[in-house]
Amino acid sequence: MPADREELLDQLATNSYDVVVVGGGITGLGVALDAASRGLSCALVEKDDFSSGTSSKSSKLVHGGLRYLQQGEIGLVYEALHERQRLLRNAPHLVRILPFMIPILTRDGVISRRIARALGSALWMYDLTGGWRIGKFHRRLKAADAHRHMPTMPPQRLSSAYLYFDATADDSRLCVALARSAQDHGAIVVNHCGVERVTHDETGQANGVEVSTIEGRRFVVRATTVVNAAGVWSDRIHAADTGTNPQMIRPAKGVHLTVPWNLVRNDIAIVIPVRRDKRSLFVVPWIKNPDGTYQFTYVGTTDTDFLGGVDESQCSRDDIDYVLEALNEAITTTVTRNDVTAVWSGLRPLVQPNTSHSAKTQDLSRKHRVEVAPSGLITIIGGKLTTYRKMAEHTVDQVLKMQKIRAKCRTKRLPLRGAVGYDPTAPVDDHLKERFGADAAVLLDMIARDASLGAPLIDGLPYRKAEALFAVRYEMAMTLDDVLSRRTRALLLNRTATRNAARAVAELLASELGWDASRIDHEIAMFHDICAREESAGMVSEAEYLSSR
Ligand code: FAD
Repeated sequence: MPADREELLDQLATNSYDVVVVGGGITGLGVALDAASRGLSCALVEKDDFSSGTSSKSSKLVHGGLRYLQQGEIGLVYEALHERQRLLRNAPHLVRILPFMIPILTRDGVISRRIARALGSALWMYDLTGGWRIGKFHRRLKAADAHRHMPTMPPQRLSSAYLYFDATADDSRLCVALARSAQDHGAIVVNHCGVERVTHDETGQANGVEVSTIEGRRFVVRATTVVNAAGVWSDRIHAADTGTNPQMIRPAKGVHLTVPWNLVRNDIAIVIPVRRDKRSLFVVPWIKNPDGTYQFTYVGTTDTDFLGGVDESQCSRDDIDYVLEALNEAITTTVTRNDVTAVWSGLRPLVQPNTSHSAKTQDLSRKHRVEVAPSGLITIIGGKLTTYRKMAEHTVDQVLKMQKIRAKCRTKRLPLRGAVGYDPTAPVDDHLKERFGADAAVLLDMIARDASLGAPLIDGLPYRKAEALFAVRYEMAMTLDDVLSRRTRALLLNRTATRNAARAVAELLASELGWDASRIDHEIAMFHDICAREESAGMVSEAEYLSSR
Protein backbone atom coordinates (compact mmCIF):
# COMPACT_ATOMS: atom_id res chain seq x y z
CA MET A 1 0.00 0.00 0.00
CA PRO A 2 1.50 3.41 -0.93
CA ALA A 3 2.41 5.43 2.19
CA ASP A 4 0.13 8.31 1.26
CA ARG A 5 -2.88 5.98 1.12
CA GLU A 6 -2.11 4.70 4.60
CA GLU A 7 -1.94 8.31 5.78
CA LEU A 8 -5.26 9.11 4.10
CA LEU A 9 -6.94 6.16 5.80
CA ASP A 10 -5.45 7.24 9.17
CA GLN A 11 -6.85 10.73 8.64
CA LEU A 12 -10.25 9.33 7.72
CA ALA A 13 -10.30 7.18 10.82
CA THR A 14 -9.29 9.94 13.25
CA ASN A 15 -10.72 13.24 11.97
CA SER A 16 -14.31 14.43 11.93
CA TYR A 17 -15.70 16.11 8.81
CA ASP A 18 -18.43 18.60 7.97
CA VAL A 19 -19.61 16.19 5.32
CA VAL A 20 -18.87 12.63 4.25
CA VAL A 21 -19.97 11.64 0.75
CA VAL A 22 -20.81 8.02 -0.10
CA GLY A 23 -20.03 7.16 -3.74
CA GLY A 24 -17.24 8.20 -6.09
CA GLY A 25 -19.16 8.48 -9.34
CA ILE A 26 -19.53 11.82 -11.10
CA THR A 27 -22.27 12.88 -8.65
CA GLY A 28 -20.40 12.18 -5.42
CA LEU A 29 -17.14 13.57 -6.76
CA GLY A 30 -18.96 16.71 -7.87
CA VAL A 31 -20.39 17.06 -4.35
CA ALA A 32 -16.93 16.62 -2.79
CA LEU A 33 -15.46 19.33 -5.03
CA ASP A 34 -18.34 21.70 -4.42
CA ALA A 35 -18.21 21.19 -0.64
CA ALA A 36 -14.42 21.47 -0.38
CA SER A 37 -14.27 24.54 -2.61
CA ARG A 38 -16.86 26.26 -0.38
CA GLY A 39 -14.55 25.65 2.59
CA LEU A 40 -16.25 22.63 4.18
CA SER A 41 -14.11 19.80 5.46
CA CYS A 42 -15.09 16.86 3.31
CA ALA A 43 -14.38 13.15 2.95
CA LEU A 44 -15.54 10.91 0.11
CA VAL A 45 -15.51 7.12 0.21
CA GLU A 46 -15.98 4.87 -2.82
CA LYS A 47 -16.46 1.12 -2.38
CA ASP A 48 -14.76 0.13 -5.61
CA ASP A 49 -12.98 2.59 -7.89
CA PHE A 50 -13.89 6.13 -8.90
CA SER A 51 -16.42 5.94 -11.76
CA SER A 52 -16.61 2.14 -11.52
CA GLY A 53 -20.43 2.37 -11.39
CA THR A 54 -22.47 4.08 -14.08
CA SER A 55 -20.03 6.97 -14.55
CA SER A 56 -17.61 4.92 -16.66
CA LYS A 57 -20.36 3.39 -18.79
CA SER A 58 -22.18 6.38 -20.25
CA SER A 59 -22.39 7.40 -23.91
CA LYS A 60 -19.70 9.97 -23.04
CA LEU A 61 -21.75 12.90 -24.30
CA VAL A 62 -21.83 16.27 -22.63
CA HIS A 63 -25.11 17.35 -24.10
CA GLY A 64 -28.52 18.83 -23.65
CA GLY A 65 -30.22 15.83 -25.22
CA LEU A 66 -32.34 16.67 -28.25
CA ARG A 67 -34.62 13.77 -27.31
CA TYR A 68 -35.52 15.32 -23.96
CA LEU A 69 -36.56 18.51 -25.74
CA GLN A 70 -38.90 16.45 -27.88
CA GLN A 71 -40.32 15.08 -24.60
CA GLY A 72 -41.05 18.64 -23.46
CA GLU A 73 -38.25 18.77 -20.83
CA ILE A 74 -37.27 22.33 -21.77
CA GLY A 75 -35.96 23.23 -18.29
CA LEU A 76 -33.74 20.15 -18.16
CA VAL A 77 -32.28 20.78 -21.62
CA TYR A 78 -31.68 24.46 -20.83
CA GLU A 79 -29.84 23.50 -17.66
CA ALA A 80 -27.80 20.76 -19.37
CA LEU A 81 -26.76 23.05 -22.24
CA HIS A 82 -25.66 25.66 -19.73
CA GLU A 83 -23.64 23.03 -17.87
CA ARG A 84 -22.16 21.81 -21.16
CA GLN A 85 -20.76 25.28 -21.71
CA ARG A 86 -19.35 25.48 -18.18
CA LEU A 87 -17.63 22.12 -18.66
CA LEU A 88 -16.15 23.22 -21.97
CA ARG A 89 -14.68 26.21 -20.13
CA ASN A 90 -13.65 24.49 -16.88
CA ALA A 91 -12.20 21.33 -18.42
CA PRO A 92 -11.16 22.31 -21.96
CA HIS A 93 -8.60 19.50 -22.06
CA LEU A 94 -11.24 16.82 -21.41
CA VAL A 95 -14.39 18.13 -23.06
CA ARG A 96 -14.52 18.62 -26.80
CA ILE A 97 -17.11 19.89 -29.24
CA LEU A 98 -18.52 17.01 -31.27
CA PRO A 99 -20.61 17.54 -34.42
CA PHE A 100 -23.67 15.30 -34.75
CA MET A 101 -25.45 14.42 -37.97
CA ILE A 102 -29.04 13.23 -38.25
CA PRO A 103 -29.42 11.68 -41.71
CA ILE A 104 -32.77 12.15 -43.41
CA LEU A 105 -33.65 8.98 -45.24
CA THR A 106 -36.08 9.08 -48.11
CA ARG A 107 -37.77 5.70 -48.31
CA ASP A 108 -38.28 2.87 -45.85
CA GLY A 109 -36.37 4.86 -43.27
CA VAL A 110 -38.04 5.79 -39.99
CA ILE A 111 -37.52 9.51 -40.53
CA SER A 112 -40.02 10.78 -43.12
CA ARG A 113 -39.93 14.22 -44.81
CA ARG A 114 -42.66 15.38 -42.43
CA ILE A 115 -40.55 14.27 -39.49
CA ALA A 116 -37.54 15.93 -41.10
CA ARG A 117 -39.37 19.25 -41.00
CA ALA A 118 -40.31 18.60 -37.38
CA LEU A 119 -36.65 17.81 -36.68
CA GLY A 120 -35.63 21.14 -38.17
CA SER A 121 -37.99 22.89 -35.76
CA ALA A 122 -36.65 20.81 -32.85
CA LEU A 123 -33.09 21.79 -33.75
CA TRP A 124 -34.06 25.45 -33.81
CA MET A 125 -35.53 24.94 -30.35
CA TYR A 126 -32.33 23.20 -29.27
CA ASP A 127 -30.23 26.12 -30.50
CA LEU A 128 -32.51 28.64 -28.81
CA THR A 129 -32.68 26.66 -25.55
CA GLY A 130 -28.92 27.02 -25.23
CA GLY A 131 -27.31 25.13 -28.10
CA TRP A 132 -26.15 28.54 -29.38
CA ARG A 133 -23.77 28.83 -26.43
CA ILE A 134 -21.33 26.52 -28.24
CA GLY A 135 -20.90 29.22 -30.92
CA LYS A 136 -22.45 27.28 -33.81
CA PHE A 137 -26.01 26.85 -35.04
CA HIS A 138 -27.38 23.69 -36.60
CA ARG A 139 -27.56 23.52 -40.38
CA ARG A 140 -28.89 21.39 -43.19
CA LEU A 141 -26.46 19.33 -45.29
CA LYS A 142 -26.91 18.21 -48.88
CA ALA A 143 -26.90 14.45 -49.44
CA ALA A 144 -23.36 14.39 -50.89
CA ASP A 145 -21.93 16.33 -47.95
CA ALA A 146 -23.79 14.14 -45.51
CA HIS A 147 -22.51 11.01 -47.22
CA ARG A 148 -18.90 12.16 -46.80
CA HIS A 149 -19.38 12.07 -43.02
CA MET A 150 -20.29 8.36 -43.17
CA PRO A 151 -19.46 6.90 -46.57
CA THR A 152 -20.90 3.53 -45.55
CA MET A 153 -24.43 4.99 -45.60
CA PRO A 154 -26.49 3.86 -48.62
CA PRO A 155 -26.40 6.97 -50.88
CA GLN A 156 -29.73 6.18 -52.56
CA ARG A 157 -31.58 6.41 -49.23
CA LEU A 158 -30.00 9.65 -48.12
CA SER A 159 -31.95 12.80 -49.01
CA SER A 160 -30.09 15.27 -46.78
CA ALA A 161 -29.12 15.62 -43.15
CA TYR A 162 -29.04 17.97 -40.20
CA LEU A 163 -25.77 18.87 -38.55
CA TYR A 164 -25.74 20.15 -34.97
CA PHE A 165 -23.18 20.49 -32.21
CA ASP A 166 -22.79 18.95 -28.77
CA ALA A 167 -19.76 17.82 -26.81
CA THR A 168 -18.03 14.67 -25.60
CA ALA A 169 -15.74 13.68 -22.73
CA ASP A 170 -14.17 10.48 -21.45
CA ASP A 171 -16.45 9.98 -18.43
CA SER A 172 -13.83 8.21 -16.27
CA ARG A 173 -11.17 10.80 -16.99
CA LEU A 174 -13.64 13.49 -15.99
CA CYS A 175 -14.24 11.67 -12.70
CA VAL A 176 -10.51 11.37 -12.02
CA ALA A 177 -10.09 15.08 -12.74
CA LEU A 178 -12.90 15.82 -10.27
CA ALA A 179 -11.36 13.56 -7.61
CA ARG A 180 -8.00 15.27 -7.94
CA SER A 181 -9.60 18.73 -8.03
CA ALA A 182 -11.49 17.93 -4.82
CA GLN A 183 -8.19 16.83 -3.25
CA ASP A 184 -6.54 20.05 -4.43
CA HIS A 185 -9.25 21.89 -2.45
CA GLY A 186 -8.58 19.85 0.67
CA ALA A 187 -11.08 16.97 0.42
CA ILE A 188 -10.00 13.49 1.48
CA VAL A 189 -11.08 11.26 -1.39
CA VAL A 190 -10.59 7.50 -1.06
CA ASN A 191 -11.47 4.59 -3.35
CA HIS A 192 -11.74 0.89 -2.46
CA CYS A 193 -13.35 1.90 0.81
CA GLY A 194 -17.01 0.86 1.05
CA VAL A 195 -19.71 1.93 3.47
CA GLU A 196 -21.05 -0.93 5.58
CA ARG A 197 -23.49 1.07 7.69
CA VAL A 198 -24.55 4.59 8.56
CA THR A 199 -23.87 5.54 12.18
CA HIS A 200 -26.26 7.63 14.32
CA ASP A 201 -26.09 9.70 17.49
CA GLU A 202 -28.33 9.13 20.47
CA THR A 203 -31.10 11.25 18.85
CA GLY A 204 -31.05 9.14 15.67
CA GLN A 205 -29.25 11.69 13.52
CA ALA A 206 -26.75 10.28 10.98
CA ASN A 207 -23.27 11.18 12.20
CA GLY A 208 -20.93 9.11 10.05
CA VAL A 209 -20.37 5.89 8.17
CA GLU A 210 -18.58 2.68 9.04
CA VAL A 211 -16.31 1.64 6.18
CA SER A 212 -14.16 -1.33 5.23
CA THR A 213 -11.20 -1.01 2.89
CA ILE A 214 -9.56 -3.24 0.31
CA GLU A 215 -6.69 -3.74 2.78
CA GLY A 216 -9.10 -5.08 5.38
CA ARG A 217 -9.23 -2.03 7.66
CA ARG A 218 -12.58 -1.19 9.25
CA PHE A 219 -13.37 2.10 11.01
CA VAL A 220 -15.94 4.88 11.35
CA VAL A 221 -15.68 8.15 9.43
CA ARG A 222 -17.36 10.78 11.60
CA ALA A 223 -19.21 13.68 9.96
CA THR A 224 -21.87 16.26 10.72
CA THR A 225 -23.74 15.40 7.49
CA VAL A 226 -23.80 12.23 5.41
CA VAL A 227 -24.49 12.54 1.67
CA ASN A 228 -25.66 9.46 -0.21
CA ALA A 229 -24.47 9.72 -3.83
CA ALA A 230 -24.34 6.01 -4.51
CA GLY A 231 -26.20 6.04 -7.86
CA VAL A 232 -28.15 2.83 -8.39
CA TRP A 233 -26.91 1.65 -4.96
CA SER A 234 -28.55 4.64 -3.23
CA ASP A 235 -31.50 2.59 -2.00
CA ARG A 236 -29.04 0.28 -0.23
CA ILE A 237 -27.37 3.20 1.57
CA HIS A 238 -30.80 4.50 2.45
CA ALA A 239 -31.64 1.07 3.87
CA ALA A 240 -28.35 1.12 5.82
CA ASP A 241 -29.60 4.38 7.36
CA THR A 242 -33.26 3.72 8.03
CA GLY A 243 -33.56 -0.04 7.76
CA THR A 244 -36.16 0.37 5.02
CA ASN A 245 -35.80 0.39 1.24
CA PRO A 246 -37.79 3.30 -0.21
CA GLN A 247 -37.17 2.17 -3.83
CA MET A 248 -36.37 5.67 -4.98
CA ILE A 249 -34.36 4.38 -7.95
CA ARG A 250 -35.55 2.84 -11.21
CA PRO A 251 -32.38 1.33 -12.78
CA ALA A 252 -32.45 1.61 -16.58
CA LYS A 253 -29.90 -0.43 -18.47
CA GLY A 254 -27.94 0.87 -21.45
CA VAL A 255 -25.27 -0.89 -23.50
CA HIS A 256 -22.68 0.13 -26.08
CA LEU A 257 -20.65 -1.88 -28.58
CA THR A 258 -17.23 -0.95 -29.93
CA VAL A 259 -16.37 -1.96 -33.51
CA PRO A 260 -13.39 -1.26 -35.80
CA TRP A 261 -13.79 2.19 -37.32
CA ASN A 262 -13.00 1.06 -40.87
CA LEU A 263 -16.29 -0.87 -40.97
CA VAL A 264 -18.28 2.34 -40.43
CA ARG A 265 -15.93 5.22 -41.30
CA ASN A 266 -17.89 8.09 -39.70
CA ASP A 267 -15.85 11.20 -38.96
CA ILE A 268 -18.51 12.75 -36.68
CA ALA A 269 -21.25 11.35 -34.45
CA ILE A 270 -24.22 10.02 -36.42
CA VAL A 271 -27.74 9.51 -35.10
CA ILE A 272 -29.22 6.38 -36.66
CA PRO A 273 -32.83 5.24 -36.42
CA VAL A 274 -33.86 1.93 -34.86
CA ARG A 275 -36.71 0.68 -36.98
CA ARG A 276 -37.81 -1.93 -34.42
CA ASP A 277 -38.95 0.49 -31.74
CA LYS A 278 -38.61 3.95 -33.33
CA ARG A 279 -35.69 4.93 -31.10
CA SER A 280 -32.30 6.16 -32.23
CA LEU A 281 -28.70 5.24 -31.49
CA PHE A 282 -25.49 7.27 -31.52
CA VAL A 283 -22.60 6.08 -33.69
CA VAL A 284 -19.50 7.84 -32.33
CA PRO A 285 -15.95 7.74 -33.73
CA TRP A 286 -13.32 7.08 -31.04
CA ILE A 287 -9.51 7.46 -30.89
CA LYS A 288 -8.39 9.73 -33.70
CA ASN A 289 -5.33 8.92 -35.78
CA PRO A 290 -2.97 11.69 -36.90
CA ASP A 291 -4.32 11.37 -40.48
CA GLY A 292 -7.90 12.19 -39.39
CA THR A 293 -9.18 8.60 -39.52
CA TYR A 294 -10.18 6.82 -36.30
CA GLN A 295 -9.42 3.46 -34.69
CA PHE A 296 -12.87 2.59 -33.35
CA THR A 297 -16.54 3.52 -33.46
CA TYR A 298 -18.90 2.87 -30.59
CA VAL A 299 -22.63 2.46 -30.97
CA GLY A 300 -25.35 2.85 -28.32
CA THR A 301 -27.34 3.00 -26.33
CA THR A 302 -30.26 0.84 -25.32
CA ASP A 303 -32.68 1.95 -22.60
CA THR A 304 -34.49 -0.88 -20.83
CA ASP A 305 -35.72 -1.74 -17.35
CA PHE A 306 -33.22 -3.88 -15.48
CA LEU A 307 -34.65 -6.45 -13.13
CA GLY A 308 -31.41 -8.07 -11.97
CA GLY A 309 -29.32 -7.01 -8.98
CA VAL A 310 -27.55 -3.68 -9.47
CA ASP A 311 -24.14 -5.43 -9.44
CA GLU A 312 -25.10 -7.69 -12.33
CA SER A 313 -25.64 -5.47 -15.36
CA GLN A 314 -24.07 -7.00 -18.48
CA CYS A 315 -24.48 -6.64 -22.23
CA SER A 316 -26.59 -9.64 -23.34
CA ARG A 317 -26.86 -11.45 -26.67
CA ASP A 318 -30.16 -9.64 -27.33
CA ASP A 319 -28.55 -6.26 -26.64
CA ILE A 320 -25.79 -7.02 -29.14
CA ASP A 321 -28.30 -8.19 -31.76
CA TYR A 322 -30.46 -5.09 -31.25
CA VAL A 323 -27.56 -2.66 -31.75
CA LEU A 324 -26.05 -4.56 -34.70
CA GLU A 325 -29.43 -4.81 -36.43
CA ALA A 326 -29.86 -1.03 -36.27
CA LEU A 327 -26.27 -0.38 -37.34
CA ASN A 328 -26.45 -2.78 -40.28
CA GLU A 329 -29.70 -1.19 -41.47
CA ALA A 330 -27.92 2.16 -41.59
CA ILE A 331 -24.80 1.09 -43.50
CA THR A 332 -23.89 -0.85 -46.62
CA THR A 333 -21.11 -2.83 -44.95
CA THR A 334 -21.96 -5.66 -42.56
CA VAL A 335 -20.81 -5.67 -38.97
CA THR A 336 -21.10 -9.06 -37.26
CA ARG A 337 -20.81 -10.22 -33.66
CA ASN A 338 -17.27 -11.34 -34.47
CA ASP A 339 -16.33 -7.78 -35.38
CA VAL A 340 -17.35 -6.40 -31.99
CA THR A 341 -14.14 -5.64 -30.07
CA ALA A 342 -15.69 -4.54 -26.78
CA VAL A 343 -18.97 -3.92 -24.98
CA TRP A 344 -20.06 -2.06 -21.88
CA SER A 345 -23.26 -1.95 -19.91
CA GLY A 346 -24.41 0.60 -17.32
CA LEU A 347 -27.45 1.37 -15.19
CA ARG A 348 -29.00 4.84 -15.12
CA PRO A 349 -30.01 5.81 -11.56
CA LEU A 350 -33.36 7.26 -12.65
CA VAL A 351 -35.77 8.68 -10.12
CA GLN A 352 -38.72 6.27 -9.69
CA PRO A 353 -41.80 8.33 -10.57
CA ASN A 354 -44.55 8.32 -7.93
CA THR A 355 -47.26 7.87 -10.51
CA SER A 356 -46.38 5.75 -13.53
CA HIS A 357 -44.43 2.64 -12.45
CA SER A 358 -45.20 1.14 -15.84
CA ALA A 359 -43.81 3.96 -18.03
CA LYS A 360 -40.94 2.94 -20.32
CA THR A 361 -37.53 3.89 -18.88
CA GLN A 362 -36.76 5.93 -22.00
CA ASP A 363 -39.75 8.17 -21.19
CA LEU A 364 -38.71 8.81 -17.57
CA SER A 365 -37.35 12.20 -16.65
CA ARG A 366 -33.59 12.70 -16.29
CA LYS A 367 -34.14 15.40 -13.67
CA HIS A 368 -32.41 14.98 -10.34
CA ARG A 369 -33.84 15.08 -6.84
CA VAL A 370 -32.33 15.86 -3.42
CA GLU A 371 -34.07 13.99 -0.58
CA VAL A 372 -33.54 14.41 3.16
CA ALA A 373 -34.31 11.44 5.43
CA PRO A 374 -35.53 11.92 9.03
CA SER A 375 -31.97 11.03 10.15
CA GLY A 376 -30.61 13.99 8.15
CA LEU A 377 -29.08 11.68 5.50
CA ILE A 378 -29.12 13.60 2.20
CA THR A 379 -29.62 11.52 -0.95
CA ILE A 380 -29.00 12.85 -4.45
CA ILE A 381 -30.43 10.75 -7.28
CA GLY A 382 -31.22 10.97 -10.98
CA GLY A 383 -29.63 13.53 -13.26
CA LYS A 384 -26.98 13.08 -15.93
CA LEU A 385 -23.24 13.15 -16.30
CA THR A 386 -23.62 16.56 -17.95
CA THR A 387 -25.54 18.10 -15.05
CA TYR A 388 -23.37 16.76 -12.20
CA ARG A 389 -22.17 20.25 -11.19
CA LYS A 390 -25.68 21.60 -10.75
CA MET A 391 -26.68 18.45 -8.85
CA ALA A 392 -23.69 18.95 -6.55
CA GLU A 393 -24.57 22.62 -6.03
CA HIS A 394 -28.13 21.72 -4.97
CA THR A 395 -26.85 18.98 -2.65
CA VAL A 396 -24.28 21.18 -0.91
CA ASP A 397 -26.88 23.98 -0.62
CA GLN A 398 -28.93 21.47 1.38
CA VAL A 399 -25.91 20.52 3.55
CA LEU A 400 -25.30 24.20 4.32
CA LYS A 401 -28.97 24.84 5.05
CA MET A 402 -28.99 22.02 7.59
CA GLN A 403 -25.73 23.21 9.16
CA LYS A 404 -26.94 26.84 9.11
CA ILE A 405 -23.84 28.02 7.25
CA ARG A 406 -23.69 30.38 4.27
CA ALA A 407 -21.08 29.88 1.56
CA LYS A 408 -21.41 30.69 -2.11
CA CYS A 409 -21.01 27.95 -4.70
CA ARG A 410 -17.69 28.36 -6.52
CA THR A 411 -17.77 25.63 -9.14
CA LYS A 412 -19.37 27.55 -12.01
CA ARG A 413 -15.99 28.93 -12.93
CA LEU A 414 -13.67 26.51 -11.19
CA PRO A 415 -11.08 24.95 -13.52
CA LEU A 416 -10.70 21.19 -13.10
CA ARG A 417 -7.36 19.48 -12.58
CA GLY A 418 -5.21 19.82 -15.72
CA ALA A 419 -7.07 22.88 -17.06
CA VAL A 420 -4.76 25.55 -15.62
CA GLY A 421 -1.78 25.84 -17.95
CA TYR A 422 -3.42 23.71 -20.64
CA ASP A 423 -2.65 25.07 -24.09
CA PRO A 424 -4.55 23.35 -26.91
CA THR A 425 -2.09 24.73 -29.45
CA ALA A 426 1.09 23.62 -27.62
CA PRO A 427 3.22 21.25 -29.70
CA VAL A 428 2.62 18.39 -27.25
CA ASP A 429 1.41 14.89 -28.02
CA ASP A 430 -2.40 15.27 -28.54
CA HIS A 431 -3.21 11.96 -26.88
CA LEU A 432 -1.53 12.97 -23.59
CA LYS A 433 -2.66 16.60 -23.78
CA GLU A 434 -6.32 15.65 -24.21
CA ARG A 435 -6.27 13.15 -21.36
CA PHE A 436 -4.15 14.99 -18.81
CA GLY A 437 -4.18 18.66 -19.82
CA ALA A 438 -1.29 20.54 -18.21
CA ASP A 439 -0.32 17.35 -16.30
CA ALA A 440 0.85 15.87 -19.63
CA ALA A 441 4.15 17.58 -18.76
CA VAL A 442 4.64 15.10 -15.90
CA LEU A 443 4.15 12.14 -18.24
CA LEU A 444 6.47 13.63 -20.83
CA ASP A 445 9.06 14.07 -18.11
CA MET A 446 8.66 10.41 -17.06
CA ILE A 447 9.19 9.38 -20.69
CA ALA A 448 12.18 11.72 -21.07
CA ARG A 449 13.83 10.03 -18.06
CA ASP A 450 12.98 6.50 -19.20
CA ALA A 451 12.25 6.13 -22.92
CA SER A 452 10.80 2.64 -22.39
CA LEU A 453 7.80 4.29 -20.73
CA GLY A 454 6.89 5.87 -24.07
CA ALA A 455 6.21 2.41 -25.53
CA PRO A 456 2.62 1.19 -26.04
CA LEU A 457 1.00 -0.31 -22.95
CA ILE A 458 -1.13 -2.60 -25.13
CA ASP A 459 -0.45 -3.45 -28.76
CA GLY A 460 -2.73 -1.53 -31.11
CA LEU A 461 -4.13 0.83 -28.45
CA PRO A 462 -3.00 4.43 -27.93
CA TYR A 463 -1.89 4.20 -24.26
CA ARG A 464 1.73 4.42 -23.14
CA LYS A 465 3.36 2.55 -20.27
CA ALA A 466 3.91 5.90 -18.51
CA GLU A 467 0.12 6.31 -18.22
CA ALA A 468 -0.21 3.13 -16.15
CA LEU A 469 2.51 4.28 -13.76
CA PHE A 470 1.03 7.78 -13.58
CA ALA A 471 -2.34 6.20 -12.73
CA VAL A 472 -0.98 4.45 -9.64
CA ARG A 473 1.38 7.26 -8.58
CA TYR A 474 -0.99 10.19 -8.95
CA GLU A 475 -4.51 8.96 -9.71
CA MET A 476 -5.13 6.47 -6.91
CA ALA A 477 -5.42 3.42 -9.20
CA MET A 478 -5.00 0.36 -6.98
CA THR A 479 -5.90 -2.63 -9.13
CA LEU A 480 -5.16 -3.90 -12.62
CA ASP A 481 -8.82 -3.29 -13.51
CA ASP A 482 -8.60 0.34 -12.33
CA VAL A 483 -5.82 0.89 -14.88
CA LEU A 484 -7.24 -1.13 -17.78
CA SER A 485 -10.90 -0.16 -17.49
CA ARG A 486 -10.95 3.43 -16.21
CA ARG A 487 -7.58 5.29 -16.06
CA THR A 488 -7.12 3.98 -19.58
CA ARG A 489 -10.22 2.81 -21.49
CA ALA A 490 -8.46 -0.22 -22.94
CA LEU A 491 -11.17 -2.73 -21.94
CA LEU A 492 -13.83 -0.59 -23.61
CA LEU A 493 -11.83 -0.46 -26.83
CA ASN A 494 -10.56 -3.99 -27.33
CA ARG A 495 -11.23 -6.74 -24.79
CA THR A 496 -9.04 -9.42 -26.37
CA ALA A 497 -5.97 -7.19 -26.78
CA THR A 498 -6.40 -5.93 -23.24
CA ARG A 499 -6.82 -9.40 -21.74
CA ASN A 500 -3.72 -10.57 -23.60
CA ALA A 501 -1.71 -7.69 -22.14
CA ALA A 502 -2.95 -8.17 -18.56
CA ARG A 503 0.16 -9.98 -17.28
CA ALA A 504 2.62 -7.49 -18.78
CA VAL A 505 0.66 -4.56 -17.33
CA ALA A 506 0.36 -6.25 -13.90
CA GLU A 507 4.13 -6.82 -13.86
CA LEU A 508 4.70 -3.16 -14.76
CA LEU A 509 2.48 -2.04 -11.86
CA ALA A 510 3.87 -4.56 -9.38
CA SER A 511 6.93 -2.62 -8.27
CA GLU A 512 4.92 0.60 -7.76
CA LEU A 513 2.24 -1.14 -5.74
CA GLY A 514 4.47 -3.65 -3.95
CA TRP A 515 2.75 -6.69 -5.46
CA ASP A 516 4.43 -10.08 -5.07
CA ALA A 517 3.97 -12.97 -7.53
CA SER A 518 0.78 -14.23 -5.92
CA ARG A 519 -0.80 -10.76 -5.90
CA ILE A 520 0.11 -10.37 -9.58
CA ASP A 521 -1.63 -13.68 -10.31
CA HIS A 522 -4.64 -12.60 -8.25
CA GLU A 523 -4.96 -9.28 -10.15
CA ILE A 524 -4.76 -11.08 -13.49
CA ALA A 525 -7.32 -13.66 -12.41
CA MET A 526 -9.71 -10.92 -11.26
CA PHE A 527 -9.34 -9.09 -14.56
CA HIS A 528 -9.74 -12.26 -16.63
CA ASP A 529 -12.88 -12.98 -14.65
CA ILE A 530 -14.34 -9.58 -15.60
CA CYS A 531 -13.59 -10.33 -19.27
CA ALA A 532 -15.03 -13.85 -19.03
CA ARG A 533 -18.26 -12.60 -17.43
CA GLU A 534 -18.69 -10.01 -20.19
CA GLU A 535 -18.02 -12.63 -22.83
CA SER A 536 -20.40 -15.26 -21.45
CA ALA A 537 -23.18 -12.72 -20.83
CA GLY A 538 -22.95 -11.67 -24.49
CA MET A 539 -23.75 -15.19 -25.62
CA VAL A 540 -27.06 -15.65 -23.81
CA SER A 541 -30.22 -13.69 -23.09
CA GLU A 542 -30.35 -11.43 -20.05
CA ALA A 543 -32.75 -13.82 -18.28
CA GLU A 544 -30.46 -16.80 -18.92
CA TYR A 545 -27.43 -14.86 -17.66
CA LEU A 546 -29.18 -13.68 -14.51
CA SER A 547 -30.51 -17.12 -13.69
CA SER A 548 -26.99 -18.56 -14.06
CA ARG A 549 -25.61 -16.15 -11.40
P1 FAD B 1 -22.39 6.10 -10.24
O1 FAD B 1 -21.45 6.50 -11.26
O2 FAD B 1 -22.94 4.73 -10.33
O3 FAD B 1 -21.66 6.29 -8.84
C1 FAD B 1 -22.14 5.74 -7.65
C2 FAD B 1 -20.93 5.16 -6.91
O4 FAD B 1 -21.31 4.78 -5.60
C3 FAD B 1 -20.37 3.93 -7.58
O5 FAD B 1 -19.04 4.18 -7.99
C4 FAD B 1 -20.45 2.86 -6.50
O6 FAD B 1 -19.36 1.97 -6.51
C5 FAD B 1 -20.48 3.70 -5.24
N1 FAD B 1 -21.06 3.00 -4.11
C6 FAD B 1 -22.14 2.19 -4.10
N2 FAD B 1 -22.33 1.67 -2.89
C7 FAD B 1 -21.35 2.16 -2.09
C8 FAD B 1 -20.99 1.96 -0.74
N3 FAD B 1 -21.68 1.12 0.05
N4 FAD B 1 -19.92 2.60 -0.25
C9 FAD B 1 -19.20 3.44 -1.03
N5 FAD B 1 -19.48 3.64 -2.35
C10 FAD B 1 -20.54 3.02 -2.87
N6 FAD B 1 -25.31 11.20 -19.02
C11 FAD B 1 -24.86 12.19 -19.82
O7 FAD B 1 -24.86 13.35 -19.42
N7 FAD B 1 -24.39 11.94 -21.07
C12 FAD B 1 -24.41 10.71 -21.61
O8 FAD B 1 -23.94 10.51 -22.73
C13 FAD B 1 -24.92 9.66 -20.83
N8 FAD B 1 -25.00 8.42 -21.35
C14 FAD B 1 -25.43 7.40 -20.58
C15 FAD B 1 -25.48 6.12 -21.14
C16 FAD B 1 -25.81 5.04 -20.35
C17 FAD B 1 -25.85 3.66 -20.96
C18 FAD B 1 -26.10 5.22 -18.99
C19 FAD B 1 -26.42 4.04 -18.13
C20 FAD B 1 -26.11 6.50 -18.44
C21 FAD B 1 -25.77 7.59 -19.23
N9 FAD B 1 -25.75 8.90 -18.73
C22 FAD B 1 -25.33 9.94 -19.49
C23 FAD B 1 -26.14 9.16 -17.34
C24 FAD B 1 -24.91 9.22 -16.43
O9 FAD B 1 -23.93 8.30 -16.82
C25 FAD B 1 -25.32 8.97 -14.98
O10 FAD B 1 -26.38 9.82 -14.64
C26 FAD B 1 -24.18 9.21 -14.02
O11 FAD B 1 -22.99 8.58 -14.43
C27 FAD B 1 -24.56 8.70 -12.63
O12 FAD B 1 -23.49 9.00 -11.76
P2 FAD B 1 -23.59 8.69 -10.23
O13 FAD B 1 -22.37 9.23 -9.60
O14 FAD B 1 -24.89 9.18 -9.70
O15 FAD B 1 -23.63 7.10 -10.13
